Amino acid sequence: MLVKASGTWLADAETKDIMVPVDIARLRAALKAGDPAAENNAAYVPEGENPSGLRPSIETSVHAIFDWPVVLHTHCVATIATAVRADAARVVEQRLGDLGAAFIPYVKPGLSLARAIDDAAGAETRVLVLGNHGLAVGAETAPQAEALLREVSRRLTPELTEQPHREGANPDTPTGLAGAGWQLFDHAATTALARNQTLLSRIEGASFYPDHVIFLGPGLLVAAENESPQETVARARQGAAQNLIVFPGLGAALPDDASPAVRALAGCIGEVALCLDPEAELLRLTAEQEADLINWDAEKYRQALELGPS
Ligand SMILES: [Zn+2]
Repeated sequence: MLVKASGTWLADAETKDIMVPVDIARLRAALKAGDPAAENNAAYVPEGENPSGLRPSIETSVHAIFDWPVVLHTHCVATIATAVRADAARVVEQRLGDLGAAFIPYVKPGLSLARAIDDAAGAETRVLVLGNHGLAVGAETAPQAEALLREVSRRLTPELTEQPHREGANPDTPTGLAGAGWQLFDHAATTALARNQTLLSRIEGASFYPDHVIFLGPGLLVAAENESPQETVARARQGAAQNLIVFPGLGAALPDDASPAVRALAGCIGEVALCLDPEAELLRLTAEQEADLINWDAEKYRQALELGPS
């Protein structure tokens, strides 16, 4: 099996070497047996076949256990907005049932998720909606997998009667932000989120999917009315680091040295928020699930790759 390497971008696939070979038979056997060694994907790269020394994606187990010639796994915005709903299983059955879809409640990516997929997926299962995580589709060919992914995304994109306003959403600078080592994040959806108190109150303080925790820190830091930007930045640097601050009514800010991945996830939260069903009850990750993600060694490796020189 060829899988994307950890810390590389699928967008670079046509110009850079981003794929790593993995011994799928050996990895599948370990996953099915629940062997803890299966958490270390790098151990399944055939010797001598990886001259660039890349490490397989931390989500290699999803690709290995979901038994299709082509498996696409993405953190599709419309899917995440569905996968964070308390009634996600019902919505998936309703909207995707005829596509051969299964919903899998949140489990930590890695061996646990692979085993949950193995339990839930039958021979006809082509679509996996992973609770508080994302989407995986399986197909015979890459074009079929892409078409299925687009169909799922289309069906899960809500037709909101009232689109949250996102036009002309240039963030306004909170007084005193300059010089704090942070800068405005000029992103239409995330600015729209900052300016929509109803949406903001639904997700303030919460994280809903693993990459948010890994790249932005646990929770969603919203500046308080009575604190200065310097005080908010100091709060972001206490404890588990936060890489995104939302200033209600104004916009959002990121550290000056935010990596491309941090920027992508800072935009993702705005896109997901604008895609939420206004009535749906949301399930956030628990503090325990957040902590579990931050202490994960494979993730530390990925973060280091993201932050280092490319
Ligand atoms: Zn994933």
